[in-house]
Amino acid sequence: MPVRYPFLDLAQANSRYADALSEAARRVVRSGRYIGGQEVTALESEMTLACEVKYCVGVGNGLDALRLILQAYRSLGRLDEGDGVIVPANTYIASVLAVCHAGLTPVLVDPQELTMNLSESGISEAVKKNVRAVMPVHLYGRVAWSEDMLRIVRDMDLIVVEDAAQAIGAVSATPGMWGSSKAGGLGHAAAFSFYPTKNVGALGDGGAVTTNDYHLAAAVRALANYGSDRRYHNIFKGFNSRLDPIQAAMIRVKLADLEQISRRRRRRADIYLSEIDNPRLLLPLHDDGCVWHQFVVRVKDGARDRFVDWMRSNGVETDIHYEIPPHLQPCFYGLRHEPLPLTERLANEIVSLPIGDSASLSDIHDIAAIANAF
Ligand SMILES: *Cc1c(COP(=O)(O)O)cnc(C)c1O
Repeated sequence: MPVRYPFLDLAQANSRYADALSEAARRVVRSGRYIGGQEVTALESEMTLACEVKYCVGVGNGLDALRLILQAYRSLGRLDEGDGVIVPANTYIASVLAVCHAGLTPVLVDPQELTMNLSESGISEAVKKNVRAVMPVHLYGRVAWSEDMLRIVRDMDLIVVEDAAQAIGAVSATPGMWGSSKAGGLGHAAAFSFYPTKNVGALGDGGAVTTNDYHLAAAVRALANYGSDRRYHNIFKGFNSRLDPIQAAMIRVKLADLEQISRRRRRRADIYLSEIDNPRLLLPLHDDGCVWHQFVVRVKDGARDRFVDWMRSNGVETDIHYEIPPHLQPCFYGLRHEPLPLTERLANEIVSLPIGDSASLSDIHDIAAIANAF
């Protein structure tokens, strides 16, 4: 059967913004500023409002956002080579790569089963091993934060670096360390990605760092620009990872519509949650603050691959986030870690259903019915 319900059709999803994106692109062409400038500055200030933080620095992509934060903490003397950073083992590989690229040691821990996010017990277990920082990943758009987590990171004096790549606009039930309840405003610093498939997607690569720490923001800004704090004056051996103004202009169009973007995803998730009642499927927890970057169900009894085939034979494209966890990737052979049985089990049970703007509400009702017929 041909694909009737694509997992995500980006051209279709972006069509609602086509005129505004074209106008924004024309603005950049006319401006004569193709690095930095007013589009980037405006996006940075709009991000500080969205995340309820003081500072934002646009950077090249989400991986760099994470790496630059960690590198900046090293430049500031807050982290030293080899220090441990707790990372949930079921995350996208970028979270782990950023830790390694910054010369730090990933300490992988199994997530909490119900939320598939970092658990308080995971953190306290891991905190023995020279751990100085923790990276809560707001996986699938659900905030990884709680009273207990706040208490533990304060007690242990850990640096909290949020991987908010999947969670722009998500809201935590528990406020963060500075009073904000928004993803990106909960810990000491946060990384965002504007990769085209993210909830707020550019038409290419883009990323951002948010923080309330002036010194961290300044260090990230310098590191992302050759380590330069002012013209031809280099305080760090830096990188080149700036956010392009053309992408900033694209992102601003979407960011202005963030509330609606999240609302549309929540409506689709609500339909799935109320209509899917197949006992072979475990649905994700309801969560008012979640922005549903992915809608991930678990298929019981080793039937995941058969479920995927069933959906495909009924015209529904699905995806898996992620089939092979980082510690089982060839590049990480030999990486030291505790046993990660839950991460490995989840990787074999999870499947993502279409949730993006290219799926109409009537598509979602159809997909729920097809899932129920499995
Ligand atoms: C997308 C993503 C990243 C990396 O973002 P890029 O912009 O693709 O570099 C990092 N972490 C998570 C959890 C992501 O989903």
